[in-house]
Amino acid sequence: MIAVSKCLLGENCRYDGGHCKDEKIMAYLKDKEFVAICPECLGGLPIPREPSEIIDGKVYSKSLKSVDEAFRLGAEKALQIIKEHGCRAAILKENSPSCGIHWVYDGTFSGKKIAGKGICTQLLEENGIRCFSSEEIE
Ligand code: SF4
Repeated sequence: MIAVSKCLLGENCRYDGGHCKDEKIMAYLKDKEFVAICPECLGGLPIPREPSEIIDGKVYSKSLKSVDEAFRLGAEKALQIIKEHGCRAAILKENSPSCGIHWVYDGTFSGKKIAGKGICTQLLEENGIRCFSSEEIE
């Protein structure tokens, strides 16, 4: 069983109300069992919502409102679902403040990326879930 970021499957759960459907991921999952998760939605954040970035380890919306609690709640809920389903691995959306694996935006809301992990990715990895970037799946 594999966990996967919901927006990669075409669900309109991104901050802008859209998705990032990835046909390569859809093809990869075709003959596999998987469970879809969206940590930000699980944390109670609405669709659409302001974009958020990580600043000094905490998550803020573009208007600099703290959304850290919602991001951490969503990460905890995602972990719970992943454990309930017995997942050992997750395919997550790169660059997201929740789901980024190698890269996140730098906290200046200027489109610049830096090396780093999303809040949910950090929690999953701390709990032994192997996390892969959607960009790494062949
Ligand atoms: S939190 Fe993760 S699953 Fe949800 S929209 Fe953002 S990248 Fe996709």
